[in-house]
Amino acid sequence: MKIERKNHTVYPIIVPVNNSLKSINFYLYQSGNNLTLIDAGLHNEECWNALLETLKRNEFSIQDITQIYLTHHHIDHVGLVDRIVRNHPVPVYAHPHSIPRLKRDRDFMERRVAFFETLYREADCGEAGENQIRYLQNALQKNEKKAMQSDIHPFDPAQIDLEIMEVPGHAPDQVSFFHEETGWLFGGDLLIQHISSNALAEPDFEGRRQRPLLQHMDSMEAADSLQPTTVYSGHGEVIYDASSLVQKRIQEIEEKADKLALLICEGLTTAAGLAKSYYEKRYDSQFPLVMSEILGHLDYLEAKERIGKEKMNGVWHYHDKKA
Ligand SMILES: [Zn+2]
Repeated sequence: MKIERKNHTVYPIIVPVNNSLKSINFYLYQSGNNLTLIDAGLHNEECWNALLETLKRNEFSIQDITQIYLTHHHIDHVGLVDRIVRNHPVPVYAHPHSIPRLKRDRDFMERRVAFFETLYREADCGEAGENQIRYLQNALQKNEKKAMQSDIHPFDPAQIDLEIMEVPGHAPDQVSFFHEETGWLFGGDLLIQHISSNALAEPDFEGRRQRPLLQHMDSMEAADSLQPTTVYSGHGEVIYDASSLVQKRIQEIEEKADKLALLICEGLTTAAGLAKSYYEKRYDSQFPLVMSEILGHLDYLEAKERIGKEKMNGVWHYHDKKA
């Protein structure tokens, strides 16, 4: 498959996977003399072969890629970068905040663990939180070798005819690339047709807490305001009606926030208490994801001034504002 408009062409690379993501998607974007790879899949043979096949089918080879642009630092979007660059040295561009994450900058990674330690302690997560911190501390050493080897440059708008938009929320470094003439938006994981994108708790570069769900909502609305004709997503199907999808996702967030507000009225006060009640067994089995969801929706309720919080003995306690 290729999509061609006004001398610009997109060659999607779609690699099916057996999980809720449905597929890992990345894209070749041809414009003028540039053949840009937008994202780089997972570091596995399926993605590598899919890239080579897509190139070959369209009479290209790996040597024709002129540059790589990354939407965010997650492993399912950057996997093939080093393998491509080893075969054919091309510049790699990413958000400045992707670089310490991809390079596993030791100081940053330690600040990141300290951030989660405080986050989970103040949310009253107990043993589940301590287990996750131990896991992160072990990963610091174990994953050191997984640092990206290629040089990564901060985005250079002069090298591409796409508008680079910051769309934080799912990841603090996430960007989308927009082509105004055709209305194409390379969205990363900002919008996924068949599932909601998680707004993940992550520190900023200095290690400070963000409000990722609020950022994600703002990012979705900013993308919607561009009225894209087509959203090339990181997973699943191509999206043609971004506006309805954004409205649906925002409604889902409001509904979940309402349910949490009800639990707070019933007397649950801590983020961990709410997480256990709302997610039951998934509190342990999907701990980081579940805590991101709960804290994100609490941020939303706080921003709407529906709840307040106060710290007692180092733990945040939430209360209904109307009470
Ligand atoms: Zn992804």
